[in-house]
Amino acid sequence: MTSTADTRTSIVWDYSPAPESVDHVRLRDRYGLFVDGDFRDPVDGRYVPTINPATEEPLAEIAFAGPGDVLAAVESARAAAPKWAALAPLERGKYLFRIARLIQERARELAVVETMDGGKPLRESRDVDIPLAAAHFFHYAGWADKLRYGVASREVQPLGVVGQIVPWNFPLLMAAWKLAPALACGNVAILKPAETTPLTALLLAEIAQEAELPPGVISILAGDGATGAALVRAPHIDKVAFTGSTSVGRDIQAALAGTNTPLTLELGGKSANIVFEDASLDQAVEGIVNGIFFNQGHVCCAGSRLLIQESVRDEVITKLWQRMRRLRVGDPLDKNTDVGAINSAEQLERIEALVAAGEAEGASRRTIDCELPERGYWFAPTLFTDVSPAHRIAVEEIFGPVVSVLTFRTQAEAIEKANNSRYGLAAGIWTDKGAKAFEVAGALQAGVVWQNTYNHFDPTAAFGGYKESGFGREGGAAGLRPYLRIPR
Ligand code: NDP
Repeated sequence: MTSTADTRTSIVWDYSPAPESVDHVRLRDRYGLFVDGDFRDPVDGRYVPTINPATEEPLAEIAFAGPGDVLAAVESARAAAPKWAALAPLERGKYLFRIARLIQERARELAVVETMDGGKPLRESRDVDIPLAAAHFFHYAGWADKLRYGVASREVQPLGVVGQIVPWNFPLLMAAWKLAPALACGNVAILKPAETTPLTALLLAEIAQEAELPPGVISILAGDGATGAALVRAPHIDKVAFTGSTSVGRDIQAALAGTNTPLTLELGGKSANIVFEDASLDQAVEGIVNGIFFNQGHVCCAGSRLLIQESVRDEVITKLWQRMRRLRVGDPLDKNTDVGAINSAEQLERIEALVAAGEAEGASRRTIDCELPERGYWFAPTLFTDVSPAHRIAVEEIFGPVVSVLTFRTQAEAIEKANNSRYGLAAGIWTDKGAKAFEVAGALQAGVVWQNTYNHFDPTAAFGGYKESGFGREGGAAGLRPYLRIPR
């Protein structure tokens, strides 16, 4: 016989689908390269379709820049650079304010396009990516006429033409992280979006036109890795800023060695999310879920190594598993979806290969049971326990919705295990003891440490890594320094 309690807990509280409308999205059939203030056909590039990873349907044809196109963009940028640098800083700021406001005006359209092109849940593109992209332009618009105060009252000059390469996990937001400080500091920029997610950068080019930004101040060159490699190696590039994998970062560093071209690298991570026994465990579980399943785990600072104090291990894992089973995986345009599509077939293969390695090495795998759409690229949220620090799933960046659990007994052991990584991008600490949080944060080799929260981003806060997670900081006043020359 079923008890009343069993009956109550067996009720399924399901949701009706709540799909966002795509009626207001007007994509062109084709997007050219954005050079000299206008869209143009490539001279030695080609057109390639960009697809929706949730449906595998093409969205638009995108021009990929060849080496000749890169040179043309550099020429246009060089012609625009002196005037932009000479513009009164307050006026430069006004352009950035205009761009920020236009992003806000087109926020709904940008969010839908970001979700269609990249597979992330609409809830995230609507509530995180697009508002934060606007916030970065607002923030750096404010800095444009106050640059000296960001660098201890020293004289500053722009660097010139900046080459910027961004990945596919936060396409518009990463473009904003790169473009806003570069332009505020008086530089002109050539941005290469990732090959799987070029659309919102191209809509940003339309916004630059609407804002009447002078031609050549921003160029958008969609393309593949070869376009990125050509941009990095092009003559007269005065600075390179890259966000992406450690292996490509290494290649760029080698290409620029001995050239005196300043470089900032924001690379991968294998960040530790540390739960102490005195933490509020329900709150910690929400933070763990946000830390690893936000954006399908396609996050450089994802809390992919979960370190739990042994005394609360079973309780945390039980609560986490219960919470994971309630995650809704599926149509990214549905406003109820928590976990959307994996960004590409290649990324899905990488995730599957690492998960298979985890099983082969002896870790215990649990994947939530859910119905996945027939078309598109999907991977259901997965939890690994019985993980040893040497397992590949504890060492390598999976960049997917997969969390590996390790345990510790003492604070010292937690610090040692958290730092036992070739990366050092971010970390999370869950404890009720403020003094402990500060002590542990001070001992962690990580660029960002969150206390009782995770994946919290703000344009005023610096972000960047240690060790193989890269160097240089983006965001806040610290984000100005890489885009300025300080003559004396
Ligand atoms: P990449 O590092 O290859 O891509 C990042 C950007 O660099 C993209 O615009 C890419 O273009 C471009 N690029 C690729 N090759 C070169 C090159 N030789 N020179 C200059 N630019 C280049 O990352 P992937 O997309 O291949 O992802 C692989 C792994 O990298 C992921 O599984 C994840 O572990 C990690 N990653 C980390 C990110 C982070 O935020 N730290 C972001 C993305 C990935 P294209 O898109 O055409 O390849």
